[in-house]
Amino acid sequence: MSLSPKSQQFIDQEERFGAHNYHPLPVVLSRGKGPYVWDVDGKRYFDFLSAYSAVNQGHCHPKIVKALSDQAQTLCLTSRAFYNDCLGPFEELMHDYFGYDKVLPMNSGAEAVETALKLTRKWGYLKKGIPENEAIIIGCEGNFHGRTITIISISTDPEAYKDYGPYTPGIEVIPYNDAEALEKVLEEKGAKVAGFLVEPIQGEAGVVVPDDGYLKTCYDLCKQYNVLFVADEVQTGIARTGKMLACEHEDVRPDILILGKAISGGVLPVSAVLADDEIMLTIKPGQHGSTYGGFPLACKVAMAALEVVREENLCEKAEYLGKIFRDEMNRMHSPFIKIVRGKGLLNAIVIEPHNGKQAWDVCLKMAELGVLAKPTHDHIIRFAPPLVISENELREAIGIIQQAIRMLE
Ligand SMILES: *Cc1c(COP(=O)(O)O)cnc(C)c1O
Repeated sequence: MSLSPKSQQFIDQEERFGAHNYHPLPVVLSRGKGPYVWDVDGKRYFDFLSAYSAVNQGHCHPKIVKALSDQAQTLCLTSRAFYNDCLGPFEELMHDYFGYDKVLPMNSGAEAVETALKLTRKWGYLKKGIPENEAIIIGCEGNFHGRTITIISISTDPEAYKDYGPYTPGIEVIPYNDAEALEKVLEEKGAKVAGFLVEPIQGEAGVVVPDDGYLKTCYDLCKQYNVLFVADEVQTGIARTGKMLACEHEDVRPDILILGKAISGGVLPVSAVLADDEIMLTIKPGQHGSTYGGFPLACKVAMAALEVVREENLCEKAEYLGKIFRDEMNRMHSPFIKIVRGKGLLNAIVIEPHNGKQAWDVCLKMAELGVLAKPTHDHIIRFAPPLVISENELREAIGIIQQAIRMLE
């Protein structure tokens, strides 16, 4: 890819003044609308990353932006030292949408996961009666739950955890998509296990979809051993996989539900933990919080973003368009394409290196032709456009992706 001097200048600036904790594709974006983004030279791309599924409602959705702008001119932040007229309505809407007694709002996905882990332990001590400081939380290999010290203590990716020790104790990690492994730990240590933390589909691992029935079997095991089933739906939730929650594909209702990313349509960092009273009310005033968590601006933005999901039938769209995407990619029979997998519009292609070209080269070629996607784990490319993309737009983008792959064959 050739870079304009203007792009190069922004890239150099980040290189010089910013921490080097990311390795971006060399495009410099300055504008977005619906499924599209434009770079600083005015070139248009289909966004097939959607900020890791935060922008399910499309870039700069007018309804969400209006909610932001109206509330920004009214009241932005109060802290939770006082009541405000936005939080209650947001909490009630979350109850209506997801059916839990209570919601605890936070900001980033990682904070919501941390909150869920604290809540799981609290419940373990106060309700299950686990002896003090002995609670165990079970996680899965290949997980991604965020970047805090405790969360990376669950990670099995050396990139995520190396040189950040000592790690948080009280964690057991078992293979993903292996209910027998869960049963084994529960048989051995069930009395001390407070919760099982799982992604219904592992997004960052490369859209790893477990076998049908896995989540349900794990959920039943959790019930049998009085263990909380904690679902991290930060990436899979909010219509991405063709249902409001990916757990709905197996009729599983998590005991604790973690949401983030698209809950605000990519406009503000908003996250949330949902649970029923028996669990949520184990945290008492003063025992957890966040200065910004549930701030008025976030509440109004998240309410608008959730309304858009229903008004524009994004679940049905994701389901329908996802099938088209997987069918079309499977039909290609390219030596580059090893596996096409996913649910709804959360999909990935496992790339077989060919002619010395890897997933990164495929992404560069796609970008040149006008589709943005990013490799995860070297050989996997995730394809997750905003759910507002139309069928014609999706078919156009698929044509570009296929052309890029053919050009490298
Ligand atoms: C992105 C993500 C997180 C972390 O969210 P941040 O807002 O980046 O902290 C947690 N869990 C899953 C499954 C994610 O995809």
